[in-house]
Amino acid sequence: MAEPLIHYDGFSRRAAASRCAELLDLVGLPAARERLRSYPHELSGGMRQRVLIAMAISREPQVLIADEPTTALDVTIQSQVLQLIDRLRKDLRMALILITHDLGVVAGVTDRIAVMYAGRIVETAPTTAIFDHPGHPYTRALMESIPRMDRERVEHLPAIPGFPPDPAAPPPGCAFQPRCSAARAACEDAVPVLLPLTSSAHGHLVRCPYPAPVPVGADHRGEPS
Ligand code: SF4
Repeated sequence: MAEPLIHYDGFSRRAAASRCAELLDLVGLPAARERLRSYPHELSGGMRQRVLIAMAISREPQVLIADEPTTALDVTIQSQVLQLIDRLRKDLRMALILITHDLGVVAGVTDRIAVMYAGRIVETAPTTAIFDHPGHPYTRALMESIPRMDRERVEHLPAIPGFPPDPAAPPPGCAFQPRCSAARAACEDAVPVLLPLTSSAHGHLVRCPYPAPVPVGADHRGEPS
């Protein structure tokens, strides 16, 4: 934690230690000053994640990129870490780019989602628009695979058949075509471009010429907070 402050910001060792204690306090680590002398194995997974977040914000970035920040954490700690990131984002007036495979994680803390498949954005829209009206078959299949309390319980959740493509040898045309339940012959002809799904000024774009339609009158939804 102290190294970037000493090497890039000219802090003395004593000043860096004070700043690190402040940062650990900011991310909610109890007994922050004593923790400066702890080894990583003396901290729990959630505490280590807080230290990493403190490191990430130590030089006051304008954009924080959090790549799978809650993987391997239990749901309680996951929720605490997400609340912490969200609080810091607001307090420090940072933009946040959250990279995750878990749509539930992004639901509560993002204004906008970009769904990626095979290295390309296949759908992007304000968060509520994505959850209310997913247009791309891949996004829809992802939504189907999330357990929901408001649906009848099933033994197996729907899964997307097949496997992601080899990035070095993608299939012709749409990369999702071998796994897509809506695929047709034309899907092999060319890589689809991102097209507007709705006329919303907030931009709901889908990389598929055959997306699920949005109900009439629903494209005003999903304005960023
Ligand atoms: S372009 Fe075709 S294969 Fe690709 S997502 Fe759309 S319907 Fe499916």
